Amino acid sequence: MTALIAKDLTVRLGGATIVDRVSLRVDPGEWLAVSGPNGAGKSTLLRALAGVLPTDGLVELEGTPMRKLSARERARRIALVAQTPVIPEGITVGDYVALGRTPYAGLFGAARPGDHARVVDALHDLDVGHLVERRVDTLSGGERQRVLIARALVQDTRILLLDEPTSSLDVGHQQDVLELVDRLRRERDLAVVMTIHDLTLASRYPERLLLLVEGREEASGSPFDVLTEAHLSRFYGAHVRVLCLDDGIAIVPRRPLPTKELLT
Ligand code: ADP
Ligand code: MG
Repeated sequence: MTALIAKDLTVRLGGATIVDRVSLRVDPGEWLAVSGPNGAGKSTLLRALAGVLPTDGLVELEGTPMRKLSARERARRIALVAQTPVIPEGITVGDYVALGRTPYAGLFGAARPGDHARVVDALHDLDVGHLVERRVDTLSGGERQRVLIARALVQDTRILLLDEPTSSLDVGHQQDVLELVDRLRRERDLAVVMTIHDLTLASRYPERLLLLVEGREEASGSPFDVLTEAHLSRFYGAHVRVLCLDDGIAIVPRRPLPTKELLT
């Protein structure tokens, strides 16, 4: 069964159309990247897929239209790692990750047997077990990103949405996080939709890439087909060279050629 389907998904905010008739489908174990210029509507699209914004069009989670699901049922099927999530002030890593179990809580929010073990497992799986007592607001960027992903994983969904998971990380931590997502999606057959700014990275991990420009899909397909010099010039106004390598592309900025007067 297809994990996630969107048909003609449209989001209007403040009188403007921010996401405009976007359609997509993602299978279990598949990884789709969404890229596009600043303000293209990538985060809005992800929030719409997560069901936290009013939309037109259809979203189906594992065969069920999202509008038929309660908030609790929805949260058992799809998890969103936002770029700048609201984190309760002073909360510890352990308590924050435990919030991911909320969709399974009993009456009056009571934790269920096994919740604690799930949290401990997720923290170890993401290599942040030693941070369980630390306050989230004292973590480094890389540690924090892992903790955010741990919170999403304990939600036990088969669909994971990640909004710019690498944006505040150095190149080593960017690779760590993407390798981690790759491992998780293979091990758990997770369907992953991720927005990502860095196109050189975007061409390496996800199988498919959707290019969003002013809320519309302008291109989609393999990263090699989507990330062409022509597209980057047309949609980003970028003056770049795209180098095709074995495992993806590399984008190299081009300087304008010096004019003759400058050379003489
Ligand atoms: P991206 O993630 O691609 O940078 P966003 O989805 O954050 O883009 O935003 C897309 C556009 O929607 C931007 O122009 C932004 O100003 C606008 N926008 C986002 N939220 C709102 C809102 N609540 N009301 C009006 N406009 C919004
Ligand atoms: Mg964004």
